[in-house]
Amino acid sequence: MNPLSDLGAWGYILFWGITILAAGIFLYRGFQLWRYLKLGRPDETFAHLGRRLARGTIDLIIQKCQFTNLGRRNRAGLGHMFMAWGFLLFVVYYTVFIIISSGFGISEPMEHNGFYVVYTWIMDIIGPFIMLGAAWGIIRRYAVRPSRIEQQRTFEAGFILFTVLVHPITHFGKIATQIAYGNPPAGLGLGTPPVSTWLSQFYSAANAPGWHVFWFWAHWAFVLLVLGIIGFTRYLHFPAGVINDVLTTRQPKTPKGKLGNIDVKNQATFGVGTVNNFTRKQLLDTYACVVCGHCQDACPAYNTQKPLNPRVVIRDIKQNLLKNGPRLLNKQPVSQLLIADQGPGSVSEEVLWECTTCAACMEACPMYIEHVPKIIDMRRHLVQMRAKFPPELLTLFENMEQRSNPWGIAPGERAKWAADVAAKPFVAGQTEYLYYVGCAGSFDSRSKQVSAALANVLNAAGVSWGILGTEEKCCGDSLRRTGNEFVFEHMMRENIKLYQDKGVTKIITQCPHCYSTLKNDYAGYGFKVEVRHHTEFIRQLIAEGRLKLDGRLDLGTTVFHDSCYLGRYNGILDEPRETIAAVTGRPPVEMTKNRTNSFCCGAGGGRMWMEESIGTRINHARVQQALDVDPNTVCVSCPYCLIMFEDGVKDQKLADRIKVLDLAEIVALAVKAAPAAPERSAAVAR
Ligand code: SF4
Ligand code: SF4
Repeated sequence: MNPLSDLGAWGYILFWGITILAAGIFLYRGFQLWRYLKLGRPDETFAHLGRRLARGTIDLIIQKCQFTNLGRRNRAGLGHMFMAWGFLLFVVYYTVFIIISSGFGISEPMEHNGFYVVYTWIMDIIGPFIMLGAAWGIIRRYAVRPSRIEQQRTFEAGFILFTVLVHPITHFGKIATQIAYGNPPAGLGLGTPPVSTWLSQFYSAANAPGWHVFWFWAHWAFVLLVLGIIGFTRYLHFPAGVINDVLTTRQPKTPKGKLGNIDVKNQATFGVGTVNNFTRKQLLDTYACVVCGHCQDACPAYNTQKPLNPRVVIRDIKQNLLKNGPRLLNKQPVSQLLIADQGPGSVSEEVLWECTTCAACMEACPMYIEHVPKIIDMRRHLVQMRAKFPPELLTLFENMEQRSNPWGIAPGERAKWAADVAAKPFVAGQTEYLYYVGCAGSFDSRSKQVSAALANVLNAAGVSWGILGTEEKCCGDSLRRTGNEFVFEHMMRENIKLYQDKGVTKIITQCPHCYSTLKNDYAGYGFKVEVRHHTEFIRQLIAEGRLKLDGRLDLGTTVFHDSCYLGRYNGILDEPRETIAAVTGRPPVEMTKNRTNSFCCGAGGGRMWMEESIGTRINHARVQQALDVDPNTVCVSCPYCLIMFEDGVKDQKLADRIKVLDLAEIVALAVKAAPAAPERSAAVAR
């Protein structure tokens, strides 16, 4: 039977009437959201579209986003997978067996063939899993209540899970009654699907037709209700997330969290001061947010009681767009400021300056949302358009402009660290690698020891290296992350010219911030040379046999701290661990938060130069995480991490018990301790 034809022409009128109404609401809202998106600046999101489409489709089918979270031992992702797979299968079912089959009155032939039987079997099997996924979501949200969804037990969230739970029930009712009144899915000689068959016993042949009509309309009403509300609720994450995945910057050679360049000469405004200054892709990010709170869970600022919550930043940008969108389309002034203390829908300045740009939020986000470029774009507006920034940054900016280093130390002091290691100047044609020491390695007393250690390691391996000495200038990392793009760009162009004039083609750094800036940010301006961080370079020297280590250096229990700009931003995770194993004979002990899930030291994103006056100090929180594994040595690979860890260990009065060493220092100790190898001597002589 066809529940539509049983009602005569009115059945079809009702069916198509409500279907067109729901589809109309869906399309109208979709069009409205699309127009708001178009308010944003165009960007390059359509490059490599074929490859991205293929990747997006695969990601959708395998629910890659949820695998990311399962990898973090978050079992909620499993429930979401069942719901998503079920949703995809149901979409095919609606299209083929409801819209085409029932809607056009051809259900008899459509429901008596092999495809229908196989499909009802599939739905029968997936249906309970969808219900389990939804029930699991409801239990977690209202009974288990993990902290990251504590503030999200809204009516909307509960209602969405309710619709997911009820929807398969209506489907089962429909098939069960079909079986009960003697018109089961038939074809291919297969039996009837198990769950629906079991449920059919609760109906009699007499009452089943009436119930069948009820379940049909209940099912379709739920489907259309969901279709109508998609654009108004967090269901929106599903279509927006799929498009976002396709358009996201995860293409080969695109650095994570890539920042947009500014055309200093030709642009009238800089950074993002109103919501339409974001790019369209950045705005799409906000539609894709599923409010899962993974970013909030990962954020070091949020977890040390700062006012910054990356989930809320994304929510506020979206709210601001939805609120101001209609006015901006009509060329009217916005009714709510983007950067202001105006509650939900605005992001406060204080929030923006708390970010360490550690990218833990982006790493954790299942929807590939990029928080950091948005935060930096808003910082750019504050710095360049409104000259508003924490007072400490004024000193940083002045030091950078006047002395080309954040400490403001005379440039003539830059190469003093090198006196004891016989560093030579870089000479094109004679020197292979430029050792870009960086400002910390040149001026900070503790990091200068790391520079000397690395120089000794390079010498021990016979590497041909040289320095720029007093000609070296800051790479500009802190300027770029704090939004001072003017000075950054000026400095970067001077540096690029210097490197080109000197004939530099290969660079070694000891600082992940210099490494990432020279490798990724400079490349965004067309400067492409080989840049190596000492962790990967030293690992290579060991692998090539140029550094002989006997694995006997005793550092006690050694723990390795992943620097954000080395691990998360640039994927250098195994190399330092392998080197520690080569030096000490065993791999480092791991903190709970390690590798790409590492916890920031608190100094990135220009936070090194700002006061930290709210909540627990981030470096104290990270040191505590290290203390949880009771180390004798904390190994780092970044000058900022070195400073932050040493300060944290001193503050805990543990400096006598715990050593904080850079990887280069550990290797230098091992090289010194090991008997001189003939190969090494030969290499040095080369
Ligand atoms: S980059 Fe780090 S500090 Fe900034 S919002 Fe993301 S997780 Fe928080
Ligand atoms: S931004 Fe990403 S991680 Fe954060 S709540 Fe939204 S979807 Fe979840």
